[in-house]
Amino acid sequence: MKIRVKELREGFNPYKVERKGSIGDPPEFADLSGDLVIEKCGTTLRVKGSLNFTALQDCSRCLNDFECSVSQPLELFYRTGKLEDSLVGKEAELTSDDLNVIAYKGNELDIWPDIREAMMLAMPMKPLCSEDCRGICPTCGKDLNIGECRCGQGSMDPRWEGLLNLSEKKPVSKKKK
Ligand SMILES: [Zn+2]
Ligand SMILES: [Zn+2]
Repeated sequence: MKIRVKELREGFNPYKVERKGSIGDPPEFADLSGDLVIEKCGTTLRVKGSLNFTALQDCSRCLNDFECSVSQPLELFYRTGKLEDSLVGKEAELTSDDLNVIAYKGNELDIWPDIREAMMLAMPMKPLCSEDCRGICPTCGKDLNIGECRCGQGSMDPRWEGLLNLSEKKPVSKKKK
């Protein structure tokens, strides 16, 4: 996913991103596509657009694999030469935008690592296969989306019920004494 910097015009350059099939080992993503625009202004490049891809995830509740389609806006800034050089004498003008500038050298710029990073950042910390995923039973490990297990169902083991009654009554009886 390389940009030939010298072939870019000043101003706007359309740039298509496409990667079919699974991405990563083990696969984390699949079928990436995106319509980007590279805006060249002197030594600065701004890559903007949105990425569409399939994310292959593990649900944080039920641990099952699932796929979801993701649409993620993308904006990257690049500057020729070393980052330090390009910022020399400009420290006073530093804005928050400048902090995202990624320096590149030479004629070819590989934007794949940055695209990949943007894809990773688009992923939730705790992915869910669905909003109302019921997860797995903490006691027996059964996937509760498939069906109920016997652990949590209504009637409690009578021995535990007895203990619960005791602990509920104790504080009350103490106060009375
Ligand atoms: Zn789930
Ligand atoms: Zn259970």
